[in-house]
Amino acid sequence: MSIKVNDKFWERYFKLIRDEMIPYQWNVLHDQENITIDKERDDENIPSEKSHAIQNLKIAAGLAEGDHYGWLFQDSDVYKWLEAASNSYAIHPDEKLLSMMDEVISLIEAAQDEDGYISTYYQINNPKLKFRRLFESHELYCAGHLIEAAVAHYKATGSERLITVSNQFVQCIKNHFGDEEGKINGADGHQEIELALVKLYEVTKDESLLELSAYFLEVRGQDPDFYKKQLEENIENGLSQGPIPTINNEYHQSHQPVMEQEEAVGHAVRLVYMAAAMADVAYYLNNEKMYEACKKIWKNIVTKRMYITGGIGSTVHGEAFTYDYDLPNDTMYCETCASIGMMFFAKNMLKHETDASYSDILERCLYNTVISGVALDGKHFFYVNPLEVQPEACQKDPGKSHVKATRPSWFGCACCPPNIARTLTSLDQYIYSSNEDSVFAHLFMDNEGEINLDKGTVAIRQETTMPYSGNVRFYLELDNINKMRLGIRIPSWAEDFQIIKDGKEVEGKLDRGYLYLEISKRQTVIDVHFEMKAIQWASHPLVRGNQGKVALQRGPFVYCLEEEDNGENLHLNSITNQQVTEKPVGDSALGDIVLLETIGQKEKITKEWNERLYQKYATKEVEQTQLTFIPYYTWANRSSGQMQVWVNKKE
Ligand SMILES: [Zn+2]
Repeated sequence: MSIKVNDKFWERYFKLIRDEMIPYQWNVLHDQENITIDKERDDENIPSEKSHAIQNLKIAAGLAEGDHYGWLFQDSDVYKWLEAASNSYAIHPDEKLLSMMDEVISLIEAAQDEDGYISTYYQINNPKLKFRRLFESHELYCAGHLIEAAVAHYKATGSERLITVSNQFVQCIKNHFGDEEGKINGADGHQEIELALVKLYEVTKDESLLELSAYFLEVRGQDPDFYKKQLEENIENGLSQGPIPTINNEYHQSHQPVMEQEEAVGHAVRLVYMAAAMADVAYYLNNEKMYEACKKIWKNIVTKRMYITGGIGSTVHGEAFTYDYDLPNDTMYCETCASIGMMFFAKNMLKHETDASYSDILERCLYNTVISGVALDGKHFFYVNPLEVQPEACQKDPGKSHVKATRPSWFGCACCPPNIARTLTSLDQYIYSSNEDSVFAHLFMDNEGEINLDKGTVAIRQETTMPYSGNVRFYLELDNINKMRLGIRIPSWAEDFQIIKDGKEVEGKLDRGYLYLEISKRQTVIDVHFEMKAIQWASHPLVRGNQGKVALQRGPFVYCLEEEDNGENLHLNSITNQQVTEKPVGDSALGDIVLLETIGQKEKITKEWNERLYQKYATKEVEQTQLTFIPYYTWANRSSGQMQVWVNKKE
């Protein structure tokens, strides 16, 4: 499959990534950008002076002197940059970018140990403890990001340099890990290598990579004391000293074997990276039991533990899931990376079954939490994506120190910014999937390309008014085949739709949220019109904070109120009307967007409240007001102020 996205909405991001994010992140990684690095929460242990990531590689390579600085996983920032740069190069080849990538690759090659190992922290500061502190070491997590960068770089440039580095590291890992006597029988505390090994398999077809991935998935949680025992052994062998920290196995999803896990628990990014890998391994190894385990985790997330914005992780403590229906709007975590992980999970579930319940969530994450993670200038980023913000609380409530009212320029833990860059530049991989005789269209954006089916090829072109309105036109041209099937996702936000094939309205066959059309002519034009109206969503009654409230959505975008348009004290507003007006604004401070407006009311703070905190209940005085909603992803791009997704609703 080769698809090129030429969509106005997304090309703006590709350009921002190419012109702003990639050069900017390059400078940050080289400690050449004059910026303030924000801590993602109040914690004195967060390294926030500089990135030092390139310098760490230089020191490991023997090209500079000094100590490692930053997180144990600082190397992964470089790998994710390299992956984003490779994807961007595939969209828009550029000699300068190629030489920037070559420079970094040379450094990685130089830093790699003779036996294939790379992890600059352990190479520089702690060689005796290589692979011996897996609960926190992130060595295999970084290996995973190295592999993903290698695959992206190979696909973009044809160069095998990083594939060679990856293969050597994988060989080193195979030498050390496994259930044979004398090997380490466990997995990294942070899942990532599992999904990366499958990607490496997809380009090299080396089946041992699938087996290694399956091994890491299946060994997790077999011995819940594995991490603790490793630390005890280090002390026994005189490699480190106590005390042994308390290890929370649920945090790493190592509390029970993954096949037995039925709920999404622990660190949200780890969980969805693991689940994405499980779905992929289950697909390639035909492991029905593993797919069933994925379905349970998926169902628990999307029916009980996910925000309407596609955010996951209800608490900052452990950046984690909590319990069913616990979705607080102002203390949540909703890390950008976690919603990116949900996209990976959804994409891999779609390999098993073409079911719109997966692709709807993929779209929800992408158009809301994921792009909310980056400012419209491409240079400021959210790690945490709240659904309700009061800037004073972010400053003064220690329980909300992780919630930012504006996007900082970089973070001590810089996982999210390069993750956004690598994901958005690989959007071409999310639009379609195919099997022997069918093409499935999951996302709607202008694109064109070719998709190989069993007996031939179909050239496909999509022209659409999405995400602003719901018209999509497909042009199909069959080459060497007489017929095929096109499955078109009917989005959950489309209350009605119409399909016109070669000028005639057709019914098609609806199955699990996809409408199927039989295509038997060499050239076919299909017009789809999805009704795109503002929808008012309600939450399950057990989501306590959303009781009596609604959230607005139009097309793929969830909406929010911002102080800039609606004044302060957003919580005093209520929507009183069913009528929501759409107001397209071109080229505003927020770009081309459609505003939603509705009549509401705002409670007045009357003079009886002067000098009082409580008084006997009396009917509230209200005034009529116009409420203006903006797409959630555009919030915090003008002034610093309050923001709210869920708004009171008066019947
Ligand atoms: Zn992140």
